[in-house]
Amino acid sequence: MRLSKTFIKTLRDAPKDETAVNGALLTRAGYVHKEIAGVYDYLPLGMKVIENIKEIIRDELNKIGCEEVNMAALQNPEPWEKTGRFSDQEVDIWFKTELASGGELGLAPTHEEPITELMKSYIHSYKDLPVYVYQFQTKFRNELRAKSGILRGREFLMKDLYSFSASEEGLDTFYVEVEQAYRRIFDRLGIGDCTYETFASGGIFSKYSHEFQTVLPIGEDTIYYNADKSVVLNKEVFNDEVLEDLGAANEKFETTSAAEVGNIFKLKFKYSEPLGLKYIDESNEQRTVYMGCYGIGVSRLMGVIAEKFADKKGLVWPETVAPFKYYLVGIGERGAKKAEMVYTANESNILFDDRDKRPGEKFADAELMGIPYRIVISDKTLKNNQAEVTVRATGETRMINLDELEQEVL
Ligand code: ATP
Ligand code: MG
Repeated sequence: MRLSKTFIKTLRDAPKDETAVNGALLTRAGYVHKEIAGVYDYLPLGMKVIENIKEIIRDELNKIGCEEVNMAALQNPEPWEKTGRFSDQEVDIWFKTELASGGELGLAPTHEEPITELMKSYIHSYKDLPVYVYQFQTKFRNELRAKSGILRGREFLMKDLYSFSASEEGLDTFYVEVEQAYRRIFDRLGIGDCTYETFASGGIFSKYSHEFQTVLPIGEDTIYYNADKSVVLNKEVFNDEVLEDLGAANEKFETTSAAEVGNIFKLKFKYSEPLGLKYIDESNEQRTVYMGCYGIGVSRLMGVIAEKFADKKGLVWPETVAPFKYYLVGIGERGAKKAEMVYTANESNILFDDRDKRPGEKFADAELMGIPYRIVISDKTLKNNQAEVTVRATGETRMINLDELEQEVL
């Protein structure tokens, strides 16, 4: 991308009401634009980060046999009425709207009911199972407080996966596969070492659910962890009974704030029972389908990663999610010409700062935007047929030969 050709600009100041670091930096660096609290637009750089996160998730889920769908955001109240969840007393974050022709609609806060209803058209026999489907979809939640930048949106992007199994063992086995896939996803996103699988409250059919919590000062959750971090619990289940249950009654726990980036839940019959999702087994008996649901907060992850790695100068993206790997600056007539050649060798990898601006301004923007490597080609570096490469995360600088550089960016 050529900076001279894009409409995005870095801003000196963030909006006054943007108190969270992630929201302020992402706005200033031209990744997002705030509509109102909890509602953001994603600009070209922000879109690239979101797409990179999605691609990692998609890759790991496809590897364990999941299929991607995209469900409607406008929802029929009927299945929700069958589970009792259309009521504002039961679910207090609904956005609802009305059809011009009469009748109410909901704006998707999540998709358990519609996906269960949908599967009634496709699951009839044990031969139709298991089914694992996921989507990346915009959710709407009328959150009371939305002051954490893109960490808590009123409109946000979620990856939600639903599993449909014939047996409890089938559900349990897949649940473990998702746990492992989630570990790989958070590793690839660069937050594996600060993201913990955490015991959280379950539901009617399972004692616990699990959350994936990333340690972060701005995080809204409180987690407790033992000395070797082998037992981690959400505050909501941190009590003597649960500690006993987990064989950790005599251990010492410490506490920290964290942001929930994902969760996994054995639903069993919670939705399949009231909505009547059944199948015929090998001996011609009718049985209820075992379900699980598995979420990841895609837009929240972008905020968590931004917030986690940011420094005084701006954003610092891990290479796997960065919108571009290189930020390229040419200085002087020959430098600019050479930079142009390097850029055309691999445009998709490079954010080319070809604007008519002082090098100092360009360097500041490179830092604010958090692009992993800054490459500077100047008349001076060209004297030795070299370019200067600076690592955003560490500030380390090294000289690299141009042919080596061309090899690298290709
Ligand atoms: P939270 O406890 O943060 O309110 P939740 O338990 O309601 O989230 P789910 O409904 O299971 O979460 O959603 C799945 C994932 O979507 C969460 O793990 C989180 O990462 C993300 N998420 C939930 N609510 C929001 C929100 N308002 N804005 C951005 N991401 C969210
Ligand atoms: Mg939660």
